[in-house]
Amino acid sequence: MEEAKQEAKNILEIVKELIPKEAGLTKVEFEGPDVAIYVKNVSAIYGDQNVIRNVSATIKKKLIVRSDTSSLMDPEKTTKKIIEIVPQEAGISEEGIRFVPEFNEVQIEAMKPGLVIGKGGSTLIRIVTETGWVPKVLRIPTMNSDVIKGIRQMLIKESDFRKKFLSSIGKKINQPIVKSEWIKATALGGFREVGRSSLLLETNHSKIIIDCGVSPEPAVKGLDAITGDENKAFPYLDSANITINDLDAVIITHGHMDHIGFVPYLFKFGYEGPVYCTPPTRDLAALLLYDYTKLVQRSGGTPLYDEKDIKKMLSHMITRDYGEVTNVTDEIKLTYHNAGHILGSSLVHLHIGEGLYNIVHSGDMKYGFTRLLDPADARYPRIDSLFIESTYGGPRDIAVNRQESEIQLMELIKRVIQNKGKVLLPVLAIGRAQELMLTLETYVANNPQYKLDVPIYLDGMILESSAIHTAYPEYLKAGLQHRILSNNSPFENEIFEVAKGERREIMERGPAVVLASGGMLNGGTALEYFKALAEDEKNAIVFSSYTSPNSLGRKVVSGFKEIALPGEDGKLMPINIKMQVHRSEGFSGHSDRRQLMSFVQNLRPGPKKIFTMHGEEAKCDDLARTFAARFHVEGRAPMNLDSIRFK
Ligand SMILES: [Zn+2]
Repeated sequence: MEEAKQEAKNILEIVKELIPKEAGLTKVEFEGPDVAIYVKNVSAIYGDQNVIRNVSATIKKKLIVRSDTSSLMDPEKTTKKIIEIVPQEAGISEEGIRFVPEFNEVQIEAMKPGLVIGKGGSTLIRIVTETGWVPKVLRIPTMNSDVIKGIRQMLIKESDFRKKFLSSIGKKINQPIVKSEWIKATALGGFREVGRSSLLLETNHSKIIIDCGVSPEPAVKGLDAITGDENKAFPYLDSANITINDLDAVIITHGHMDHIGFVPYLFKFGYEGPVYCTPPTRDLAALLLYDYTKLVQRSGGTPLYDEKDIKKMLSHMITRDYGEVTNVTDEIKLTYHNAGHILGSSLVHLHIGEGLYNIVHSGDMKYGFTRLLDPADARYPRIDSLFIESTYGGPRDIAVNRQESEIQLMELIKRVIQNKGKVLLPVLAIGRAQELMLTLETYVANNPQYKLDVPIYLDGMILESSAIHTAYPEYLKAGLQHRILSNNSPFENEIFEVAKGERREIMERGPAVVLASGGMLNGGTALEYFKALAEDEKNAIVFSSYTSPNSLGRKVVSGFKEIALPGEDGKLMPINIKMQVHRSEGFSGHSDRRQLMSFVQNLRPGPKKIFTMHGEEAKCDDLARTFAARFHVEGRAPMNLDSIRFK
């Protein structure tokens, strides 16, 4: 312990020595994984950009520079000053300027953050040197997002807590590196199955969890409703022989329920440590988790956790962008890489000890073309072991060509519309909805052959999800990013109409295309439309995502002609399905077999061991064996509860 204090002190001492005297340093402290300094004269630091670079490089940590409280300008004057300094086109307003005295920080919300930052950060530097407040620039999504508004307000309100929390995490992380003798991973969930993904990674003195999800089926039914299948709903945390506060960190790959759905439960049961994720993952997870609790409550159930627990989780989140190297314990460094699956989705690179071991965990990944995201990153500093998803890893999982799928979909829509029908596209609100919107926009708005002249309605969570996408253009493909930044967002194209509670009218009006959330027709807006449109053979429904075996979507896809569903009065009413039922493959956010193979082939450096996960048993097994044979590596498909020793 004494030694630990010593090491922590060392980093802070080094920083002290490296800061120029004229800066008037008053305080150096840990702030989560970063180091924050407080100085009387910020110009002395910002006058020479090398100072920050040198210090960061020496301590291998992010350095945050703040003014000493004594040199802060009065907030009212600061607001005026900021409005004076920032060009009007940046789209800032007085209400969008908020002070966070706990961090001596001013948050500035802007339509065009680039203009608040200025060339080479020049405008930011002017603000901080003239007012003392360090600006944090936040992008205003081009579409209204209640989730983002809520999270930003909540984080400001929780500043006092955040300050203490980050300081305690910082002290814990910055203990001296004690050389670990062993490293092992234990499969807690999502191995030889899809759902409840979770992997525990342990060394002599670190314990972290990568992902902590729930299985999709029970999550839809309402977690309380699980009886027989309870054992398959959640990760095997109880088996790991650890108490919740033994955990040093939870690392999340992306915002889907089967990867994050169990995390609020950890907080309900007393977890107080950090949860690492990218900023968009935090926001998308908030959207899905709140929606899930509402869905369960509405259906008369009791969710596994409530809004209070979700809020607690959000206030314990530490967000990192792709490429930022971050110590999550003294000996484990985390770096996120683009996974191409959904907005903010990541492959996790973990560097353990000083070159002792390197692990890459794929989360869910797409190594192929999508309209929204770049393909998954295949370059890493070092890899010893790779954990890779196998959702479509079976030998017959070869996806339909994307372009062909798009044209087939457009032809189908054209045909139905010409015959005066309506097309219902039930979609996953995150990812698939935006892919389809981008496809529709490309063809309908820009290809005269597919000009529809009918409204394309958007209903349900799709809007909020799209809005979150517009807050993070830097996570999207370059072309799309450019369009959002230059006020030409495809998500706001005039071909789309927002359904504002006029569902009945839409269903009674003429031909239309409806994108509604609820990809499996389990609740969600899509179900409402389905009930109203199913009995007319002129209409069509097109599924573009996975439907789980017990979902209504699966029944419809597999050709059921009559289904009983609760009507408005709650009584079951029979529905005769006369509408045309189609599946559109090729829009998946997962890699198919070929893409998984070429990802591993192109991976640099190549891994020595490959473990498959997140797929049906036979697929995980076959894929692992194929990797082993093709790439001369050790390939295994671990079972849940298996432990793997690396060192
Ligand atoms: Zn996913």
